[in-house]
Amino acid sequence: MAFSKHIFVTGGVTSSLGKGIIASSLAKLLQSRGFSVTIQKFDPYINIDPGTLNPYEHGECYVTDDGAETDLDLGHYERFLNVPTSQANNVTTGRIYYNVITKEREGAYLGKTVQVIPHITNEIKRNFLLLDDTGKYDIIITEIGGCVGDIESLPFIEAVRQFKWEHGSENVIVVHLTLVPYLKSAGELKTKPSQHSVKQLSEEGIQPDILICRSELAISSDIRKKLALFCNVDFDSVIEALDSDTIYGVPLLMQEEKLDERVLHKLRLPLDRPAEMTAWKEFVRKIRRPKEEVKIGLVGKYVELHDAYKSIAESFIHAGAINECKVNIAWIQSEKLADEQNLYLLQDLNGILVAPGFGERGIEGKIRAIQYARENQIPFFGICLGMQCASVEFARNVLGLKEAASVEMNPQTPYPIIDIMESQKNLTLMGGTMRLGSYACQLKAGTKVHAAYQNLLIQERHRHRYEFNNQFLEDFEKMGMICSGINPESKLVEIIELQNHPWFVGVQFHPELKSTVANPHPLFVSFVKAVLSEAKNLKR
Ligand code: GLN
Repeated sequence: MAFSKHIFVTGGVTSSLGKGIIASSLAKLLQSRGFSVTIQKFDPYINIDPGTLNPYEHGECYVTDDGAETDLDLGHYERFLNVPTSQANNVTTGRIYYNVITKEREGAYLGKTVQVIPHITNEIKRNFLLLDDTGKYDIIITEIGGCVGDIESLPFIEAVRQFKWEHGSENVIVVHLTLVPYLKSAGELKTKPSQHSVKQLSEEGIQPDILICRSELAISSDIRKKLALFCNVDFDSVIEALDSDTIYGVPLLMQEEKLDERVLHKLRLPLDRPAEMTAWKEFVRKIRRPKEEVKIGLVGKYVELHDAYKSIAESFIHAGAINECKVNIAWIQSEKLADEQNLYLLQDLNGILVAPGFGERGIEGKIRAIQYARENQIPFFGICLGMQCASVEFARNVLGLKEAASVEMNPQTPYPIIDIMESQKNLTLMGGTMRLGSYACQLKAGTKVHAAYQNLLIQERHRHRYEFNNQFLEDFEKMGMICSGINPESKLVEIIELQNHPWFVGVQFHPELKSTVANPHPLFVSFVKAVLSEAKNLKR
């Protein structure tokens, strides 16, 4: 028997309507009423997880504390709710089939033909309940990836149908997100795509309880009536979701539309505690009315697709708000910087961040950007590959080891500043085999990172195969690049920072994965603060 109440979020008409943001916003409102809430995402693709997907294809891969490589929507869930997620929060068709096929090989279904119904749908339903089984949550929101009508999402929709039937409509509701487009030539909002999408969902056995309609323009009462009548939902269960200038404004829009009230009413949960959104409103006010602005260059090789660096961009919003400063990101293709003539791209930046990544493309450009930041005293933040490039740059241009490299890019280098980790040497499988998830890091007292964290022992999330080579550490430290954070057990270098520079920090982990609205990440906060203060110095 289910312990929690369940809300399923499906989408229709088109993808990219922002189901993840709607699910996060609803969760935020329910959490602000005192309920414990989590969100899980079920993705219909056949990869076991997005870990091996190209970021151009699927955006950033988000890593959880327990080392799961997951969909970027989990980042939104954590940023909105300030509650960590885990492997159980992201399940793909691939994982479902993998589990079923493994069980089949183990003989769990001996004598039976293994089929989509009931074996796959049962496995999906078992996974719907993984977080429920922890007994920690009053409400679990499950986002179903993709669009209603897609062949590949059929087993998920069927599992939702069965789940609702089994657990009762006061325990399980379905929220359907659609698009109400504005047709310029007709001068009106059109309801037909939503009608078709709900019809499709009904053909698959599900009548949505609540309809959320993305729209550029306000939806009049007449159109709401029409949507309600033809989509077969209550009039006050038609919720308008207007475009917002910031995703963080969406919970407030949903509150005005009383989405949380409708949901609680349908789930027979108490409505007596209103959502306490004061701190959230203050955060949104700071985003909308910054006192200052700075420009930070984000140097990476996937910059054409901003989703590839989603968590970094969001971390800048959080850190900007707390500094009452808008961080404008200049997206800089690292490949371009390989050509010295393009260095002008870095000219008017107040700070430079070199992004994570894999493989050789764009490496020399990243190294050049770092040299520029180091020599011109521009605040610099290197994340994962960015930290590795900073180490190579320092070895080449300060220690004079011209052929220094990471063995990822040059396996034959005489100076392997960044080397493959011992534990990675004999691996043959690519998926899920990096150094993943949360590890401890001991900070050195009196350093910039110590000042930022106000703590000497921290936990951060990782996703990499290569590491700083400790053979070179002494030479680095002699020349002013110190190790300010180290793993207490393995002694792996986790943070390097440059002395005699306003702010130059490289981290082997991914701080961007832990920045939330309630807890902006201390390193991003400290970096933006340094950027702001350097920018002010320049103006003086
Ligand atoms: N490619 C590097 C490694 O595997 C860096 C990875 C990253 O930036 N996430 O170590």
